[in-house]
Amino acid sequence: MTQFRIALLPGDGIGPDVVAEAVKVLRAVEARLDGVQFTMTEYSVGVAEYLRSGDALPKATVDLIRQDDVILLGAMGLPNVRYPNGQELTPQIDIREILDLYCGLRPVKLYHPDDTPLRKAGTIDFAVIRENCEGLFASRLEPYSLDADEIVDKLRITRRGAERVCRSAFEIARKRRRKVTLVDKANVLPSMTYLRHIFYQVAAQYPDVAADHVYVDACTLYFVQRPESFDVLVTENMFGDILSDLAAAVVGGMGMAPSGDIGDKYAVFQPSHGSAPDIAGKGIANPVATILSAAMMLEWLDTSETLRGAQLIYSAVERVFADPAHRTPDMGGSLTTGEMGDLIAAAV
Ligand code: ATP
Repeated sequence: MTQFRIALLPGDGIGPDVVAEAVKVLRAVEARLDGVQFTMTEYSVGVAEYLRSGDALPKATVDLIRQDDVILLGAMGLPNVRYPNGQELTPQIDIREILDLYCGLRPVKLYHPDDTPLRKAGTIDFAVIRENCEGLFASRLEPYSLDADEIVDKLRITRRGAERVCRSAFEIARKRRRKVTLVDKANVLPSMTYLRHIFYQVAAQYPDVAADHVYVDACTLYFVQRPESFDVLVTENMFGDILSDLAAAVVGGMGMAPSGDIGDKYAVFQPSHGSAPDIAGKGIANPVATILSAAMMLEWLDTSETLRGAQLIYSAVERVFADPAHRTPDMGGSLTTGEMGDLIAAAV
């Protein structure tokens, strides 16, 4: 029996609801696999933990999590609970930096043509890779005063940071359609000219993968006009943050956008969305992004059985989505969070 230890960090808002459905689906997958056991341990991290202990992401908890094989996270942060300086709690960002999870992988796939707001959309199946540990988030923890005459946010690109995320993009493209597009603003910002320079140096090491670039503003246009033209995109932290929400919109919304934050040693899988306080506690959150994140997690564990488990989830989602009546309210349907989880678990 191969045991996989999964750390569960349900977090805040709709986080616990959607993680519960992913657990339901993982249990169904476990029953279908040969000699695989998922040992899941839940940890308290996020706003509730901050209110209890004064620390949203206690170091002792992070040390325990490091001993697990992989991490599945729900959502963290609530706009009405802030640090004394007025900033929101962002343990979901802190954990990326603490565990050095530099590759933010966000697959974007349209499961049914009815679910895109675009009038004529073909196959939409691409992946946004967001650099997670530097870029325009680099100075986010620097102290500031609202009484100052100016505040400057730095956009930091290091050679090491750029090289490793570009390499990840090319490696991932080798398992897909072998094309990587850099999204930058090299016509304006020196940091972006540097990023493009490093991108093409890395591209030269992957002659079997096509490489091109696009400005970030044009990229938003192309996501709407011709999303089918993309395979893998790689970009800095903040551009990736914004682009992945737009990308989610073209395939049905935040409830359809999974993600993996991947480093050389650790990885956290979570939906791309936040804690959605506007719908928390109503039982209507779409759990599919988290369920697909669990599938990505199984792929990352990378054994023949977990890879098979991931495929079971992907094809279960495909089968459930083939019937347009099977949707949660964010996608125009009337299923509850639990009903959607039940359908996908049953399809597995
Ligand atoms: P963050 O900055 O932490 O990513 P956010 O402020 O961008 O969070 P989200 O929490 O992602 O916001 O929510 C954005 C919108 O999408 C909200 O209207 C929310 O209700 C909706 N939404 C997000 N996730 C889901 C989901 N799983 N199911 C249904 N609606 C969702």
